[in-house]
Amino acid sequence: MPPGPDRPADTLRDMPAAVDTATETPLARTRRARRIVRLLGEVHPDARIALHFDNALELLVATVLSAQCTDKKVNEVTPAVFARYRSAADYAAADRAELETLLRPTGFFRAKANSVIGIGAALTERFGGEVPRRLDELTTLPGVGRKTANVVLGHAFDTPGITVDTHVGRLARRFGLTGETDPVRVEADLAGLIERRDWTIASDRMIFHGRRFCHSRRPACGACALARLCPSFGLGPTEPDEAAKLVRGTRGDVEALR
Ligand code: SF4
Repeated sequence: MPPGPDRPADTLRDMPAAVDTATETPLARTRRARRIVRLLGEVHPDARIALHFDNALELLVATVLSAQCTDKKVNEVTPAVFARYRSAADYAAADRAELETLLRPTGFFRAKANSVIGIGAALTERFGGEVPRRLDELTTLPGVGRKTANVVLGHAFDTPGITVDTHVGRLARRFGLTGETDPVRVEADLAGLIERRDWTIASDRMIFHGRRFCHSRRPACGACALARLCPSFGLGPTEPDEAAKLVRGTRGDVEALR
């Protein structure tokens, strides 16, 4: 069985090789980045977007609702929203109070209702009611930044996009693939290292790894299959048994991560 969340403690039989990002050549960094993406695929073969949707409009709305909210909570709310509003025009014409009531469990519901109504209006007025397929067009929609736009491009339109959320930004820095904190710059650094065709899946895998192993406070370094490729090994406990207790979710147990 390859390394993964089902057998995390096995992964450190060999001590991690030191990664010195200060002396690493650009070519070596590119190769390491691509090895990281491949290995993350072995560790998290079930990595995929956690939001439920059937079309680009639903994904766009769900992604807007996921700001400051768990995907699990969004998935609880969206069935009623998607049943009530089926088109951009429906959102544009939504009764604000009714929509706010539906969105309330996701937090920041007034701002989110504003965005969703505004998106419906913008799609109706400027894009024939369809979700545009270009980043520069998506980011003209109210409440839609590069992160949301890349989620939609990558998962609804099969257009590679790097989604820099809190997990991707943190892991990119811990992996030494960027020194930036600004998401746009992190995205540019990752785009220069990772093959374009892998941009979407690399983001999904990094998000899963961030949720399962590489937590913001106490990463499970001693249980992490990426340790040999990670200059931040040691940030969390390195003792396998202690680290294994920090691992969240197991393969197939995607619900635990949402
Ligand atoms: S910081 Fe630790 S848990 Fe995170 S990727 Fe590096 S070795 Fe793994």
